[in-house]
Amino acid sequence: MSDLQLQRRGLLCVVSGPSGSGKTTLCRRYSNADPAAVYAISATTRTPREGEKDGIDYFFLSREEFESRATRGEFLEYAEVHGNLYGTLKSEVLAHINEGRDVLMDIDVQGASLIREQSDPAIREAFVDIFIMLPSEEELLRRLDYRGTESRDQVELRLGNAREEMRHWADYRYTVVSQDKETDFTTFSAIMAGERCRSSRLTPCEDAINQHPELGL
Ligand code: 5GP
Repeated sequence: MSDLQLQRRGLLCVVSGPSGSGKTTLCRRYSNADPAAVYAISATTRTPREGEKDGIDYFFLSREEFESRATRGEFLEYAEVHGNLYGTLKSEVLAHINEGRDVLMDIDVQGASLIREQSDPAIREAFVDIFIMLPSEEELLRRLDYRGTESRDQVELRLGNAREEMRHWADYRYTVVSQDKETDFTTFSAIMAGERCRSSRLTPCEDAINQHPELGL
């Protein structure tokens, strides 16, 4: 008799948190380390920062192009953040979930709320949301300053937005209070591992139904 094999559909894992919380690094690191996970590259109208590459960090679009793709219904969600448009393309998400891969999305609280409201049963079932919180206002300031990639005005804008974003932590199923990179990654991976084991997302393959009467199917 072969060992029990359970198949599952992919997770749609939405990760939010203030600028500097390390959410992008967590999503990227997890998807690089695990072949069953992919990072959904967002589209944005913001100007690329130094070193950022089109199609790797973001799909950098003009506002006209973004808006026309939005009109064509190509986005799962989109929102205006820090004065620019950001959105998740359906093409970056749906096929992966159907094929059993977990999709990690680093999006703001407005985008997360739009996905939470989706009526599509496949999306609702796959949905997991995680908020990365900072332990203090001092730590937030320290991390925003450390990035060194933003102008003073941008830092001020991001600071105001960060305070507003953090008020939404309780809307998320999980909240991770960020400590150091390794601890955060361990906690994040533990959440993913738990979500992958939820019985409601698992289906025995045809062989398992015949060979494992203990399943009661
Ligand atoms: P940044 O400009 O620092 O790369 O990102 C700014 C903010 O936009 C972050 O809070 C990030 O989570 C959010 N963001 C990135 N991609 C998306 C997206 O596809 N949709 C939404 N709603 N927000 C996004």
